[in-house]
Amino acid sequence: MKNYMVLFLLLSSYIFSQESSFDPDQLIGKKQISLEGTDYQLLPEAAKAFEAMYKAALAAGFRIRVVSSYRSYERQRAIWNRKYRNNQKEGLSPDVNRQKIIEYSTLPGTSRHHWGSEIDIVDANIPPEGDVLLSEKFHNGGPYEPLRLWLEAHAADFGFICAYPDQPDRSGFYYEPWHYSYAPLSVPLYRSYLKLDLNATLQDSLLAGHKDMTKQFLASYRKTHIMGINPALQ
Ligand SMILES: [Zn+2]
Repeated sequence: MKNYMVLFLLLSSYIFSQESSFDPDQLIGKKQISLEGTDYQLLPEAAKAFEAMYKAALAAGFRIRVVSSYRSYERQRAIWNRKYRNNQKEGLSPDVNRQKIIEYSTLPGTSRHHWGSEIDIVDANIPPEGDVLLSEKFHNGGPYEPLRLWLEAHAADFGFICAYPDQPDRSGFYYEPWHYSYAPLSVPLYRSYLKLDLNATLQDSLLAGHKDMTKQFLASYRKTHIMGINPALQ
């Protein structure tokens, strides 16, 4: 009993120290952090876990390709601004424009990819055809269905959990069978993130549509999208 108590105290102090050690700039992709990886960029601990998962997947016949890993604030802003301007050209109002982008893409400063704990993955053994990150490619005989099934059975053994699973009660981003999160790091990062004042943190005059982004929008986006993740990562 006593040993369990000591373990519990050690664990909670470890989690607490992890949560309190993140600087807000790191949480929103504006800090230079040390990353590892050849074809990807992840925090060292996540990279190590990924390499172990990669090897296990390889032995099972899959060659995991990381389509996206760490993404900086600036990179996310470039993605956002490009989509925003394209939608604008098609005549979309600011509200509709924003809603359309946030079906799949995040507001810069709110992407889990800023943390260095997230990966979007496919199977490199399949020659890519057009957009690879489509959920239908992971189901009903699609090219990435075998990889999805393998990940659902084994990724958690390496600490990786699907962030946006197909759960009917989940709000926010659409189902992303390709997006995996390294939970031992992303859980404390997420908890620390929720303490940020988004309205103050996300002021950016270079962000397309920033003038129409109200406090109310941010508050609802936080609830539906940022918090609309797999309960196992909360
Ligand atoms: Zn992703």
